[in-house]
Amino acid sequence: MDARGARESMDAAKRGVSTARKWAESSAASLERARKRLAEIREEVDRCERQAGDASKSLQEARRYLKDLERRHEVIDVDEETTQQRKKRRLSHDGGTPITPPTIPEESAEEGLVLRPSVAGVAAAARAGGSDESADLGGAGGNLQQRLMTNGHERPEGDRCPICFDPIEFPMNKHSKINVCCMKLVCNGCRLAARRRGLRGCPFCRTPFPSDDASKLAMVQRRVEKRDADAITLLGYKYFHGSLGLTKNVPRAIELWTEAAELGSLEAHRQLGAMYYTGDGVKEDKPRGIQHWQKAAMKGHVSSRHNLGIAEHKNGNHQLAVQHYMISAKMGYPKSVDGMFKEGLKEGRATKEQYAEALQGYRDAMEKMKSPQREEAKKAGI
Ligand SMILES: [Zn+2]
Ligand SMILES: [Zn+2]
Repeated sequence: MDARGARESMDAAKRGVSTARKWAESSAASLERARKRLAEIREEVDRCERQAGDASKSLQEARRYLKDLERRHEVIDVDEETTQQRKKRRLSHDGGTPITPPTIPEESAEEGLVLRPSVAGVAAAARAGGSDESADLGGAGGNLQQRLMTNGHERPEGDRCPICFDPIEFPMNKHSKINVCCMKLVCNGCRLAARRRGLRGCPFCRTPFPSDDASKLAMVQRRVEKRDADAITLLGYKYFHGSLGLTKNVPRAIELWTEAAELGSLEAHRQLGAMYYTGDGVKEDKPRGIQHWQKAAMKGHVSSRHNLGIAEHKNGNHQLAVQHYMISAKMGYPKSVDGMFKEGLKEGRATKEQYAEALQGYRDAMEKMKSPQREEAKKAGI
């Protein structure tokens, strides 16, 4: 090879290197672009997943709402009562018997009840054809029992935190707080999260908290005037305990709970059930008390379901007690697991399999009530 040939091939090699460099640079640039695009796509996917999650939550909500509507439609005859019957019931409260001291804690009192040992009236409630309410409940005992056991296996909408949508753990008044501005039970996890975000006032509706009893009462009254069933129930407790500056007035409390129950408050049904069943503040009327629990239990009210279990146990109907406990245990009610244990393993009236089923159902329900936020609230002592 001569000198000229060598130079030419050197130049060619240099051009080759330069082309290769340019190519490498442009490849690096397109790699960088591709990486950026990939990151964008990933973000997009995350966003879509979040949206899908939200949508599925809303869908679940909608399904639950629909189910609730269907259920309400199905049991509409339960709530219908003639004006005369209502009047009769109101009158019976006016001549109230001497009042015993309150045993039920204020606000969400769903845990307060301890049934006094006495003869239960479950069978009587089922048999009492003459009673106006048992007619409402569907008359014949067998049919009623069947409806009782097939309805109310899901907790009512009001048992869910309106912010995170998870059902609230029992006892609900320890794991959530009700605010009188909107009457929503907000779970401790969401309360802690709101506090950390620096939010003052109600975590759900953002209304500032009332500064004193008078303004709190005024807030409750405003909702009562609009016939909010939960507010009427709460006002009933305030009269029952004589709090928020009100004079204690149990007949008034019963009147309010009766109105709230007619408007669909399950808590009011539970409370009336406890009053009539135990004769606390009213003339004892076990069948009537049981009917209140039955109405609430068929709409998913858990402690009313549990109370039906106790009543059946006391009445010697252990198989029915087991069936009630099974339902409420599976909805996450710890006392029903205990009830099942007593019926079953100690007294031999429920099988090991039934107890295992109740326990597993209870654990599954507990799992659905857990969240990192709620665990943190527990650790923080909220
Ligand atoms: Zn929550
Ligand atoms: Zn609020």
